[in-house]
Parts: sequence; C-alpha cells; structure tokens
Amino acid sequence: MAYLATMRPEDLLLPTPSGVCCKTGGFYIDPTRPVDRALITHGHSDHARAGHGAVLATQETLDMMRLRYGEDFAGSTQVIRYGETVTLNGVTATFHPAGHVLGSAQIAVEHKGCRIVASGDYKDVPDPTCAPFQLVPCDVFITEATFGLPVFRHPDPDAEIAKLLHSVTLFPERAHLVGAYTLGKAQRVIALIRKAGYREPIYLHGAMEPLSRYYMSHGVDLGELRPVRDMKKADLGGTITLCPPSALKEVWSRRFPDPVTAYASGWMRVRARARQSLVQLPLVISDHADWDGLRATIVATGASEIWVTHGQEDALVHWCATRGLKARPLDIVGYGDEDETDLPSPLGAEGGEAQSAERGEGSLSETSSRFQSPPSRPSTPRASTVDLPHKGGGEEGEA
Ligand SMILES: [Zn+2]
Ligand SMILES: [Zn+2]
Repeated sequence: MAYLATMRPEDLLLPTPSGVCCKTGGFYIDPTRPVDRALITHGHSDHARAGHGAVLATQETLDMMRLRYGEDFAGSTQVIRYGETVTLNGVTATFHPAGHVLGSAQIAVEHKGCRIVASGDYKDVPDPTCAPFQLVPCDVFITEATFGLPVFRHPDPDAEIAKLLHSVTLFPERAHLVGAYTLGKAQRVIALIRKAGYREPIYLHGAMEPLSRYYMSHGVDLGELRPVRDMKKADLGGTITLCPPSALKEVWSRRFPDPVTAYASGWMRVRARARQSLVQLPLVISDHADWDGLRATIVATGASEIWVTHGQEDALVHWCATRGLKARPLDIVGYGDEDETDLPSPLGAEGGEAQSAERGEGSLSETSSRFQSPPSRPSTPRASTVDLPHKGGGEEGEA
C-alpha cells in the first residue's frame, strides 16, 4: 500500500470512455479513437485501431495491423519485445506475454513506485500458437471479463477437438466446416487438430489465408494448408475447412457436400447461443480466461485493486469485493469479444470486417432457410453447454 503515499493509480492511468490514458507518459493503451500515441496490447480490431499518430506494440501486433489496415495505418510505429521496457516522459512501460493470440501482450506501466498492469485480453491455459501468459505482480491489475460469470468454465480444448475429429470419422462422405475467428482462434484450432494427430491437408476460406500464412512464417506449425477455392465439391467429402463463422450460413457453404457445421467459440458454452448459431457441432474453445482463470489470475498478481473491462464486469467486481479487493468497472466503449463481432446470428452483428472475402453472393434469407431443415445431424454433443442465468451487460454485440 506504500504506493498510495506517492501516487494514486488514477494519477498514473486515467480510465476514459475511449481507453485508459497516461497523462504523464503522454499515451493511451488500446484507445478506441485516434490518439497521438497508442500502446497496443494485441491485433484484434477492437484493441488495435487505425489512425493513431505513434504506435508502440510487438512486431506481431504491428504486422497484424499492417495486414488489416495497410502500410499507413499509423503515423509511425515502434517495435517492443517481451520483457523490454521503454520510458515515456519518466513513465516506464514493459510488455509481457498475455497468452491470448500471437504477439499479444500485457502492458505494465510503472511510475513512482506504482505499477499497473493492463492485461488486454488474456488466457491462462496453454496455446500452441502463442507465448504463455506471464504473471506480473502489480498494485493494480486491469482485467478483461469477457467470460466473467461462474457459468463460464471452459472445457479441455483437446476434448472439443476430439468431438470434431470423431464426427469426421463418423461422416467420411461429408465436408466439415469449422467457423472460427480469423485472427488467433482459427490458427489455434488448426494447431489443436494437428496436435490430435490429424495429418490430412486442412482447407481454408480465402479470409483465413493471410493470417494463417503469417502464423506459419513465425514458426507456428499448422501442417499442410490449402485454399479451398480451387477444390471441386466432390473432392471435399471427408475434409476439414476453416472459415469465418459468418461464412457458415452464406451461399459460399453450398460448395461443400452435405456439410457438418461447427463453430469454435467460448460462447458455445451457452446453450441458447449454440442453438442460435445454428451450427451442428458447437466447440467450446476460447482465447479468454474463464471464471476460474480470471479469479486465479487476479489473486496471483497480488494486486490490491482491480479494474474490470469489457464483459461481465459486475460479477467479477462483486467477487473482488468479497475478497477484500478494491474493484471498479471501467466503462470503456468499444471493446468487444472478437467472436462476438463474427457471430453467425440471424440478427447479424456490426463487425465481421473483411472476414468474408467471398461474401455477398446471395441473400440472408436464402442461406438461412437452408438451415430450417438441416440434413441428418451428427450426434451433437451439447453436454458442455449451459444456460446463462441472465444477460450480462455490454457483450451482446447483436443486440
Ligand atoms: Zn482479443
Ligand atoms: Zn478484447
């Protein structure tokens, strides 16, 4: 508590509706509007936006921004490595792995004996496609709460992948289409499929190619990947194709023989969401910490104060209070869950930017009507799904 004598946390990082701001250091972290200097935790579009003056981030995050927005996405850029510290007007900022996606970082900001860690999005479970989450002791921990409700306990991802591979064995004549967010989730799903011993080529929707190639070029082994666009329908029986979730219900999916549709997302834990997504094989795989992971991480940081962002803030804030921790929700407008922006809901979502290069060939009603009478369903495992007791605030992108 010694830091209280020297500096209040709010004097070091001021929460604003467009992100946390360090006035002394002259920067924002993951700002949702253009600013002079931005420190970016990772490449997802709600955290990494175009139009800032100067951007400080890991090489991978900068590359992902370049892939998405083009060369001139910022006035200038500066690369920082994990464990490296920069000093900005006397304030130090150090980047540490967040275990969320390739290049994702927590940013530890320190000044006059007060250390605040802005963790961005994170998960505390192993992921073959990125560096593991590193625990950074701090006075104030800024945590996400995308899955900040006790119902969210993510199952073993290997068991979810086993369901997919079982279905492929069960229905060798059918194509398997797996909806997964383009940045991070798709590559993790592919890596998990490889880890399970699947050696066949895996096919990619056009929107998946640049980032998957990028992961490969950075040493993440995804095995043999092929563009699906060159394939004949008849040759796609028994194959696995990764696509943006939105493509599952587009005319695009008609090129596949009697497809089994799967969707890899933490939201598949919620029975209503799994049903709403209209997929036959919900796979509960998330790149965010679940309720147990959030709580364990909060305790392990040793922080006496917790700031909670995007998601189910209230439950986690309440839980912190019961532990004697000072906690507050941050009302930052514009953070979402990356899966959320891509949810194949009949109501649609505002996001899905550039997710589907091959979108727009047919009307929504056409595509959704084909799901009214789905083909013979595989044994849909719903055991890992639960009902959500009530709607949390903020995260319902389609609302
Ligand atoms: Zn993210
Ligand atoms: Zn996020």
